[in-house]
Amino acid sequence: MIRAYLSIGANLGDARASCLQAAGALDRLEQSRLVERSGLYRTEPVGVRDQPDFVNLAVCIQTGLDPRPLLERLQALERELGRVPSRRWGPRAIDLDLLLYGERVIQEPDLVVPHPRMHERRFVLAPLAEIAPRAVHPLLGRTVGELLAGLAAGGGAVERIEGEPA
Ligand code: AMP
Repeated sequence: MIRAYLSIGANLGDARASCLQAAGALDRLEQSRLVERSGLYRTEPVGVRDQPDFVNLAVCIQTGLDPRPLLERLQALERELGRVPSRRWGPRAIDLDLLLYGERVIQEPDLVVPHPRMHERRFVLAPLAEIAPRAVHPLLGRTVGELLAGLAAGGGAVERIEGEPA
C-alpha cells in the first residue's frame, strides 16, 4: 500500500458539497481508503480570473492501485460527479489531481507525478501542508511545508472556511 496525496477542487454548483462527496467516494475506491483530509479552503481562481472562487481541499489515501489505474478512477469519478469538459483553468464541477504517489516520479504524456504545478500553487500547498507538512517532493527535495513557506506573496488568496457557510 502506498500513500498518495490528492487535490480536490470545485467552483460550480454546490462546490463544497461536491468536494466532500469526492472525498467520501475516495474512501470507497477499490483497494484504497481515505487516511486523512484537510479542512476546506475558499481560494481565488488562478489563471482565468473571471470565474467563481473555488473550494479546495487535500486528502491522503492509502492505496494498492498503481498510479495509472488510480488516475483512471479519478477521471471516472470526475465524470460521475458531473464534470463536463471546459476550458483549461476554467470553471468546473469537480477536479481531482494526483499530487504525490509515495516518492515515485512519473513523466508520461498524460500522467505526471508529482503534479507539475503543485509546488507553485498556494491553493494546493495550503491544504496539503495541513495534513502532510513533512511529505517530500521527490524532484525538488523539499517538504510541502518548505514549499508553502517559500511561495512568493500573492498569487491567489486562500482562506480556510471549514465550519463557516461557504
Ligand atoms: P485537468 O483538466 O487539470 O484535470 O487535467 C486533466 C489532464 O491532466 C488529463 O489529461 C490527465 O491525463 C492529465 N494529468 C497529467 N498528470 C496528472 C496528474 N498528476 N493528476 C491529474 N491529471 C493529470
